[in-house]
Amino acid sequence: MTADTAGAAAGGDRGASGTEEAVRFHALLKAFEGAPAAIGGRGKDLVNEPMIRHWCEAMGDNNPSYSGPAAIAPPTMLQAWTMGGLSGHTDRASAHDDLFALLDGAGFTAVVATDSEQEYLRPLRPGDAVTFDAVIESVSPRKTTKLGTGHFVTTRMDVRADGALAGTHRFRILKYRPAAQQAQQAQPGSAARPAQSARPSAQAAARRPRPVVNRDNQGFWDGVRDHKLLIQRCTACRALRFPWLPGCNTCASPDWDTVEASGTGTVFSYVVMHHPPFPAFDPPYAVALVELAEGVRMVSNITGVPYDKVRIGLPVQLEFLRVDDGLELPVFRGSAG
Ligand code: ZN
Repeated sequence: MTADTAGAAAGGDRGASGTEEAVRFHALLKAFEGAPAAIGGRGKDLVNEPMIRHWCEAMGDNNPSYSGPAAIAPPTMLQAWTMGGLSGHTDRASAHDDLFALLDGAGFTAVVATDSEQEYLRPLRPGDAVTFDAVIESVSPRKTTKLGTGHFVTTRMDVRADGALAGTHRFRILKYRPAAQQAQQAQPGSAARPAQSARPSAQAAARRPRPVVNRDNQGFWDGVRDHKLLIQRCTACRALRFPWLPGCNTCASPDWDTVEASGTGTVFSYVVMHHPPFPAFDPPYAVALVELAEGVRMVSNITGVPYDKVRIGLPVQLEFLRVDDGLELPVFRGSAG
């Protein structure tokens, strides 16, 4: 926590939840509890087999319950039937927007989805018409997390099929004041960095996003600092994995060590980003899924080759790109020609 956040305007504190201001602000937020976030929403499509099939293919779920004449929809699709798509729903209630405006106005401008819970009461079947209501269920007191200080907002959606409650979906987000300075302090050698202005300058706005470093991936970023690309290896079954995870997807063991990648690989797939524009990036540029010689794949940038010359199968070599004084990233240099 640095001086600028401590001195921020409405809602400002040093992360303690007990200050008078924080309590007063939480009371304003709590007034939204029970307010509707969506009333009488309607699924844009009836529950249908094509959407079920696409979902199962994307998830790699071959459960026979989801195909054939007596198919049901995978329970975890519950939210999919309520989604508004790019055009959205027209019946969105304003309480949600009002709550977010209040949080934004107090400096809690960043948002991250933290978790969701679902409860299934009856299966959804092709032909079911889905309706839903959503309510702002709770707004937490001020909490300080590694990302920053803010409030957790839980929204509960009741999903009905032909009028009968089929399931409940709770969705929790954290609206927070970004703790960019904390991330800086985590970078060795930058402890003396002066606190940034609370008002983002044009330069600050154009900085590349910082990685979220946590206990599950700290070792990876420690490796990057030492110019090593470290792959996790399960010590029980020897399976390699990337990105870093707390456990093994093959045998569920939580025990692991690391192997250092040789640094050679090939482009397994790629996209060229044209849109949307983002100030920290200069489109068009290629984002590649690189298959390392060790067999795992990682998403990264390709250097040394124009974006329109990146190809599947292109041989690449690891290098470390100093993006700015607080960020170094593993990237891959393509061999031109
Ligand atoms: Zn394993």
